[in-house]
Amino acid sequence: MRMVVANWKMNHLRRDAEAFCASLLGAYKPVDGVVAAIAPPFPLIPVVSRLVAGSAVRVYAQNAHAEAKGAYTGEVSMAMAMDAGCTGVLLGHSERRQYNGETEATLLPKVKAAAAQGLLPMLCVGETLAQRDAGATLDVLRGQLSILAQAPEGPIAVAYEPVWAIGTGRVATVEQIAEVHAFIRKELLALMGPRGGDVPILYGGSVTPDNFQDILKVPHVAGGLVGGASLDPAKFLKLLDIAA
Ligand code: 13P
Repeated sequence: MRMVVANWKMNHLRRDAEAFCASLLGAYKPVDGVVAAIAPPFPLIPVVSRLVAGSAVRVYAQNAHAEAKGAYTGEVSMAMAMDAGCTGVLLGHSERRQYNGETEATLLPKVKAAAAQGLLPMLCVGETLAQRDAGATLDVLRGQLSILAQAPEGPIAVAYEPVWAIGTGRVATVEQIAEVHAFIRKELLALMGPRGGDVPILYGGSVTPDNFQDILKVPHVAGGLVGGASLDPAKFLKLLDIAA
């Protein structure tokens, strides 16, 4: 299975989402084994869900809270994300680790809550440039992945996004991606047993239609988690084409 996930981050208003979905659905031909998903900002989740209803396009949240409900002003529960039309949720994106203090301690309950709700948790991991330069990449990833020793039942996905490749135009080399994805697979098998072999591992960080083909050829790369290029429906369609 391959996956192409559009992470819109904090971009787009309703009119942009409507235009995007119109262009996408006008040309999109679903292919068996290729998952297309859009992760819009929260207010656009019901908008996009309604527009893609009846198509094979899935909708993910960019984050959600671990608690089921209660006095958590400004937060959104897994059940609310699902109720709005999501089938998955990004967890631990590096921007959330950086700006919202997400850590392994906050992420494990989120992974469990997502799975309990029936949402696909997509755990995002990745090292900063300083960590890479210090030779600490694999140690950082080992720490970030460690929560999957307590992975709940059900499907889980992982996205490797080197922080220094996000939004910089500086894509990781295929050698760097190969090393890390092989390492992640080994860790998943050690942490989760045989089911760790089935976890899709996506790459993210300056993915474009120009580099996606080469990235997809790397062993253990199951797709792309795409930021900037995913805001343009023509580029998203191209990425889906390449994954097919
Ligand atoms: P870019 O594709 O803009 O580098 O963003 C990657 C990312 O963070 C997707 O989650």
